[in-house]
Amino acid sequence: MEFLPLFHNLRGARVLVVGGGEIALRKSRLLADSGAVLRVVAPEIGAEVRELIERSGGEEILRGYTESDLNGCVLIIAATDDEPLNAQVSADARQRGVPVNVVDAPALCSVIFPAIVDRSPLVIAVSSGGDAPVLARLIRAKLETWIPPTYGHLAGLAARFRHQVKGLFPNVQQRRAFWEDVFQGPIADRQLAGQGAEAERLLQAKIDGDAPATTGEVYLVGAGPGDPDLLTFRALRLMQQADVVLYDRLVAPAILDLCRRDADRVYVGKQRADHALPQDQINQQLVDLAKQGKRVVRLKGGDPFIFGRGGEEIEELAAHGIPFQVVPGITAASGCAAYAGIPLTHRDHAQSVRFVTGHLKNGSTDLPWKDLVSPSQTLVLYMGLIGLPVICEQLIKHGRSAVTPAALIQQGTTVNQRVFTGTLANLPQLVAEHEVHAPTLVIVGEVVKLREKLAWFEGAQASV
Ligand code: SAH
Repeated sequence: MEFLPLFHNLRGARVLVVGGGEIALRKSRLLADSGAVLRVVAPEIGAEVRELIERSGGEEILRGYTESDLNGCVLIIAATDDEPLNAQVSADARQRGVPVNVVDAPALCSVIFPAIVDRSPLVIAVSSGGDAPVLARLIRAKLETWIPPTYGHLAGLAARFRHQVKGLFPNVQQRRAFWEDVFQGPIADRQLAGQGAEAERLLQAKIDGDAPATTGEVYLVGAGPGDPDLLTFRALRLMQQADVVLYDRLVAPAILDLCRRDADRVYVGKQRADHALPQDQINQQLVDLAKQGKRVVRLKGGDPFIFGRGGEEIEELAAHGIPFQVVPGITAASGCAAYAGIPLTHRDHAQSVRFVTGHLKNGSTDLPWKDLVSPSQTLVLYMGLIGLPVICEQLIKHGRSAVTPAALIQQGTTVNQRVFTGTLANLPQLVAEHEVHAPTLVIVGEVVKLREKLAWFEGAQASV
């Protein structure tokens, strides 16, 4: 190991920064954030650095560097673009045995700055020993995406209960098991979901020994329209904790693969007119599994609250007092529009967008047609394939122009995405001609025309 990672407590300690420009600013910011008192020496000092000096209760010295500037400092940073000066500062600091960092010159450093993931009080530092800072930064970026921003709150929660837990379990091993359970279970989930008070309540109950017998929970997770890359961090985290996953037809296999390997997978169907399980049975199953203490992921295509019957499912859970979380997902309209190069609104073409279900009850047409014909409104039809001839006909009949541009997007955002464009008048014909199947989204409005200009990135996808 070239460098030993240590975390430096700088609160109230004086740190010398030589230099007052852009490089000095970056380091000064970090130092001020960790509570150091800044002494900055440079003939010129930028306004932002000055602010930091003031905030830290430090001092600015407007002249060239002299050796005596090191007096009383516990850490020295050389942040100028004058190489001989940086080397001098480094030599002086080493002479005195004070740690020194020279920005971008590892050979002159006795200490180096790592790439930092800050989830205070949890801090992760990554270093390549100065050899490949870009690599360290890339790893940092990966960690940033894995570790939720609120992760540090878990440490805060632990800090508040540490003494109580220590009193409860004098034995280290028992204590470790207790905290492992807390950090990997529903208590941590609550805290990460921003429900700190509830997390504290559950933790207190666990300490008092009267934790509820069933700690099962249901996560209603929006899996997005198909591309696994469109999952949210929270969706992925909960999927990887699941004991059971209930999924339907819209959830792509590639997404299902991201669930915890040994989770039970239950297909609950949901094909138009071919519900593998009626909704009330799905609701009941969620309740039953949670009551058995399981962590249940109900994985839904798109967003659970947009034509996803998520509302009905949580109503049932709430009625049975079962804890649940709803994780929003990218709805088909957003995903398909983005991947097909069709902005849903546009200053010149559409001032509003309306999501409508095309699923016609018993073949009847009970949509509010008059509200749907404004030329400056984009219409997005979910489940619109079967009713499409009726829908197009009614829209035209109620005044929407027959030449309004329209698009069909089949299996949007997936590798199988197909897009066909035409007009309100010939859309049903396109469906027949190209054997378009569900899931398909229909977009109607002037914005569809923009696809010609914006879909250049789409490569080989079919288009008419
Ligand atoms: N909750 C989902 C919608 C469920 S309704 C969401 O927010 O996206 C099912 C309808 O969504 C399908 O009939 C289809 O119209 C649309 N849909 C869902 N995923 C789609 C996809 N990848 N491509 C095209 N349409 C999709």
